[in-house]
Amino acid sequence: MKGNMMEWGLTIPKLINFAEENFADNTFVSRSADGSLKSYKYGHSLQNSRKIAGFLKNKIGINLTDRVATIAWNDSYHLETYFAAIGMGAVLHTINPRLFPEQLIYIINHAEDKVVFIDPLFLPLIEGVYSKLDHKIPIIVLTEEEISSEVIDNIYSYKDVLASEEIIESWVEIDEDAAASLCYTSGTTGNPKGVLYSHKSTILHTWAASGAIGVNSMSMVLPVVPMFHVNAWGTPYIALMTGIKLLLPGPALDGASLYELIDTEKPDILMGVPTVWLGLLNYLSENDLTLSSVNQVMVGGSAAPYAMIKEFDEKHDVFLTHGWGMTEMSPLGTMMQPTRRLLEMKKDDRYNMQTRQGFPLFGVDIKTVDEENNTLPRDGVANGALKVRGPWIMESYFKSDSKSSDKKGWFDTGDVATIFPDGSMQIVDRAKDVIKSGGEWISSIDLENAAVGYSDVQEACVVGVPHPKWDERPLLLVVADESTLNKEDLLKFLESKVAKWWLPDDIICVSELPHGATGKLLKVELREEYKNHLMEK
Ligand code: ADP
Repeated sequence: MKGNMMEWGLTIPKLINFAEENFADNTFVSRSADGSLKSYKYGHSLQNSRKIAGFLKNKIGINLTDRVATIAWNDSYHLETYFAAIGMGAVLHTINPRLFPEQLIYIINHAEDKVVFIDPLFLPLIEGVYSKLDHKIPIIVLTEEEISSEVIDNIYSYKDVLASEEIIESWVEIDEDAAASLCYTSGTTGNPKGVLYSHKSTILHTWAASGAIGVNSMSMVLPVVPMFHVNAWGTPYIALMTGIKLLLPGPALDGASLYELIDTEKPDILMGVPTVWLGLLNYLSENDLTLSSVNQVMVGGSAAPYAMIKEFDEKHDVFLTHGWGMTEMSPLGTMMQPTRRLLEMKKDDRYNMQTRQGFPLFGVDIKTVDEENNTLPRDGVANGALKVRGPWIMESYFKSDSKSSDKKGWFDTGDVATIFPDGSMQIVDRAKDVIKSGGEWISSIDLENAAVGYSDVQEACVVGVPHPKWDERPLLLVVADESTLNKEDLLKFLESKVAKWWLPDDIICVSELPHGATGKLLKVELREEYKNHLMEK
């Protein structure tokens, strides 16, 4: 016997309608490139989205499923463009401006973008690659100034768009399984690959994420994580579903700029990667400042170190909610939310628990497997490839003929993890980064986390390099002042944190470490550079 409930497609145009009807007077704040802060009503901004959609449809000729690209920071223009594109049934393609020119060309051509919206800051970037694009696509610059270019004929300013008389009266009615947005990831080998989210997957993820992050009608959220990176972990959609106040930080993401923003607007929830919080924490400690309005900092993208968790708690009374996910997962998979059990623990035990990536959200199945694909026990000891499945997890990459999941529908994350008897999960490494020494795994992430806890180390990276006896051994590269760093002391410090046989065979001081477009360490490059380092010793 089937239930007797209605069919009601889960689509983003419905979400936009809902926000227009219920949160029109709710506000969000956006900072522009010149640093000024402006408050906007969602109702007014979504009216602008209707104008943009009208312009796209009638002046540019955008149809259902055409890709509308953006290369922009988190601000009001970008937000309005998001909902214009998706609300009219086009596919929003957010592009990472930190990509190398060749990747940018590849992605725009591969996605077959029909128009690109860009921040004025990125005009030189798009002009630089424009002749290599397959089509002379129109470019819309997100500025209310007049705009011209010697390279691009087909160029408009946002001012032209808003001045246009075209307006979409009603948002599109669309199948819930239709594509809504597209995001490319470089976290795989080869060319960047596109992940194509559907309306339904986005709505389901939004429900789950709103609950997991714990937003309520009083929340004010500062997404420092960019809107070009997996939809800022879903915050634009969370805002429309819950009416929360967003605080969009624009391009300045250094410690001083973020502190000024936080101090002025008083958000309670911050979201971003560890590097950003390192910048903020350093600024706070150098200037003897504390965070007063913030309750929670959500950290993902790479592991949140113990030292950071502790500093947020001890100095700022802020709970660091550790999350884990991937572009392929929309992105949220697991979170270590504050719970009564956690808050009642001894501080040291609690901080250790918080270094775990946490518990899965309902809608995400997780398991770890060995090399023969046998499921491993959830005993907090066994570690193996982390596999996931669920309704907001990708089945195959954009334009790929083959499924990325296995026969039973599990997607291999490329991460190596341990699952504990209580259900929580800890990432111990990435499959490609794992160090295997004498047949045993060494976690480069644990070593890095330990090393950054040492006061003279600003950033740390551990790579596995070939070794004549052990096959592979860890090499520790640290960003630190060579004249003051005492390597013996650092080794002793590490010895108190990790197993002795894990200690790096050498420590090298560098002035900086190479990062990819999304801020991740480029370990493949380092492994190549140092591949003979221990062989020659
Ligand atoms: P995002 O950076 O938003 O999580 P990406 O697709 O760029 O998404 O990267 C996903 C990968 O980043 C994961 O497979 C994992 O290796 C790493 N990652 C993400 N979150 C964490 C975390 N909390 N701890 C450790 N690694 C993480």
